[in-house]
Amino acid sequence: MLIRADNLAKHYPVTTGFFGNKVAATVRAVDGVSFTIERGETLALVGESGCGKSTTGRLLTRLVEPTAGTVRFDNIEMSELGREELRATRRRMQLVFQDAGSSFNPRMTVGALIAEPMHLAGAPAAACKARVQELLPLVGLSAEHAERYPHEFSGGQRQRIGIARALALRPDFVVCDEPVSALDVSVQAQVINLLTRLQREFGLTYLFISHDLRVVRHVADRVAVMYLGRIVEIADKATLYKSPQHPYTKALLSAVPAHRPGAVRTRTEVVGEVASARNVPSGCRYHPRCPYAMEICKTQDPELYDLGGSHRSACHLVNATH
Ligand code: SF4
Repeated sequence: MLIRADNLAKHYPVTTGFFGNKVAATVRAVDGVSFTIERGETLALVGESGCGKSTTGRLLTRLVEPTAGTVRFDNIEMSELGREELRATRRRMQLVFQDAGSSFNPRMTVGALIAEPMHLAGAPAAACKARVQELLPLVGLSAEHAERYPHEFSGGQRQRIGIARALALRPDFVVCDEPVSALDVSVQAQVINLLTRLQREFGLTYLFISHDLRVVRHVADRVAVMYLGRIVEIADKATLYKSPQHPYTKALLSAVPAHRPGAVRTRTEVVGEVASARNVPSGCRYHPRCPYAMEICKTQDPELYDLGGSHRSACHLVNATH
């Protein structure tokens, strides 16, 4: 196991008053999630915008300090690390963002952008240059691209540059945060194939964050579905797509185009508005939208019930029928 998150939470106070010193509300961006990621595995984290997926990725890499809970990385408890140890551990964890190009300094060449993390880590200039020349062909670009600027590249190519930059320090773990959401479908497939090949070649472990279960189907080993800061269902990919148990997972899957030509998918009704992480409903937080909600759902928060194998689902209905 490479990653272990236990009861991880991130709450943000919403302040008011002249000095901003009154806490008016709390945004429960991530509200107690626990999961593991095995070495070489891809765990997909799926859910609607604002459900806490990206914050979870940042909590794992310690870009965001947790309000509660712990993260163990390669058997190292992250909160116990001193500043230097934390910096060294963070080099083993990298991020690939949705639109890598938007975070690039337009005045830096592609070579300088890819080399930047190595420079910051104190690597000599010659070693940085050699590594850039090694990385560009690995991500499907050519060595001469090092002298060009990011605006000269397409969205898909900029994403390849972002991947090369993320791999510069030879990480073990990469958080891919909606890495193909801004790309055309044909380019999405190319970038996904690239990520898959690099994972095989270098034994990488991925947390793949996406709102799109269609995309996740191509990359994930296991899938965790998040709703309002909690994981509501987690299973290996085959089980989750074939036998989803949580009503929210079923609703998300019903919106995905059928996998086989001619196959018909039955739509599951989702009612009501997406609730706010500032005002989390009592009981099961999905109950205002759930077509199967019962009285118990309004008051009792369901735990993640074990359904056998790696399959778990947080629903009273599931508990009653298993
Ligand atoms: Fe729906 Fe109740 Fe299950 Fe929540 S616990 S998903 S409200 S049936």
